[in-house]
Amino acid sequence: MYENLEIWWVTGAQLLYGGDAVVAVDAHSKEMVDGLNKSGRLPIKVVYKGTANSSKEVEDVMKAANNSNQCVGIITWMHTFSPAKMWIHGLRQLHKPLLHLHTQYNAEIPWDTMDMDFMNLNQSAHGDREFGHICARMRIPRKVVVGHWTEPEVQDHIAVWSRVAAAWADAQDMLILRFGDQMNNVAVTDGDKVEAELRLGYHVDYTPVSELMEHLKKVDEKDVDALVKEYFSLYAHAPEMEDPKSDDYKAVRSAAKAEIAIRSILKEKGAKGFTTNFDDLGTNDINDPNFLGFDQIPGLASQRLMAEGYGFGAEGDWKSAALYRTLWFMTQGEPGGCSFLEDYTLNFDGKQSSILQAHMLEVCPLIAEEKPRLEVHFLGIGIRKAQTARLVFTSKPGNGVTATVVDMGNRFRLIVNDVECIKSKPLPKLPVASALWIPMPDFATGAGAWILAGGTHHSCFSYSVTPEYWEDYAEIAGIEMVHIDRNTTMEGFKKELRYNEVYYLLNKSLQ
Ligand code: MN
Repeated sequence: MYENLEIWWVTGAQLLYGGDAVVAVDAHSKEMVDGLNKSGRLPIKVVYKGTANSSKEVEDVMKAANNSNQCVGIITWMHTFSPAKMWIHGLRQLHKPLLHLHTQYNAEIPWDTMDMDFMNLNQSAHGDREFGHICARMRIPRKVVVGHWTEPEVQDHIAVWSRVAAAWADAQDMLILRFGDQMNNVAVTDGDKVEAELRLGYHVDYTPVSELMEHLKKVDEKDVDALVKEYFSLYAHAPEMEDPKSDDYKAVRSAAKAEIAIRSILKEKGAKGFTTNFDDLGTNDINDPNFLGFDQIPGLASQRLMAEGYGFGAEGDWKSAALYRTLWFMTQGEPGGCSFLEDYTLNFDGKQSSILQAHMLEVCPLIAEEKPRLEVHFLGIGIRKAQTARLVFTSKPGNGVTATVVDMGNRFRLIVNDVECIKSKPLPKLPVASALWIPMPDFATGAGAWILAGGTHHSCFSYSVTPEYWEDYAEIAGIEMVHIDRNTTMEGFKKELRYNEVYYLLNKSLQ
């Protein structure tokens, strides 16, 4: 999915040192960009856009970056002392993520041979400080990466930012369909959709369930047969389920129909995610002769569509739907997997105290440890109360990161928590997919800090992201991020929340 995307590389220079120096810098830059692309560590190709030697050239390349659909971000590197006033007009106009790479063509100082010509070609030590100053002075959000361009760690920092920049671009035309509203009275999953679009880029549309049902009406029975076959080939299941006369088969078939209908409306509208509401599934009365609706909560559909990359939030949680899509998008091709999850129930067990993460149906199979099992069970929640298909599994042990966005009234706050997934156990009487984790730094501090920060019971979890991904995301979006990790103390965290309160009040008044 990153194939058509580009990261642009712009080398800051000036003409003070003569044309020969610029020619050499140009050759060095090309070699550096080629080296990065050949490293095999960058998910998105870097395209060298030449040296910028004047205010006009800077402005031209920034405007071109803004207008390019391929370009998801810009890397700048100052080979020389590029006088930074020439960056003012261009930076002011740049609307794409910026990474400032503090590196140098040459690695070690050639002590015995270094002369002034060498110096003129390897001036990043002061050039990048001049550029850093103007970015700081202009309050330009950016990521600063420091290190030699051939180092794998440096390339990995660029790779993370590239993925986040791509996900940011993806979010700028993201449409989330809301089938039904929030669950009545629920505060934490709601928020200001206008501000979300201004700040985070995505758009959330109410979509009448009746419109979705028009897609359900048009589902081709042959497609349903094929999808059910696919289920049976992909997932463990009881052999009796394949008997077309069995109730389980009928429930699975009906779930497949729901999946086709939801995918169809998502595709038709070009949407990248959706939310559902278990009280709004079409005609309320299933005995109505003109019944047109889902006969069960479309949980299996949500699980599978999440795995396909569609954002999903249960109970109208559009912020989680958008965040999940971003999480999925930026971790494409990485091992691990991600899912929408809910803090389900607590397990007090001394130092191993943990939180069971699940949902009544909607957990993404990408995090499954074993082959998911397709099961049908009665679900007594919501308008339908029916035999309901779902994928059941436990998730892999391992470290991961979970995140949520809440609306604080004057800003969005991204809350990130490092977690350790421990071995979860099957729940024979509660057949749902689940994970079991200990929040860092420990159960009490992790859960306490999350609650103090106003975090949701819904979050977007991944085995493959590191906190750096979310740090880059928050920087690009210009939103608050609080990170609960191994070093968090309640005392320090409380102070951080209070300091941030002041910072964002001030920040708002400056805009
Ligand atoms: Mn929920």
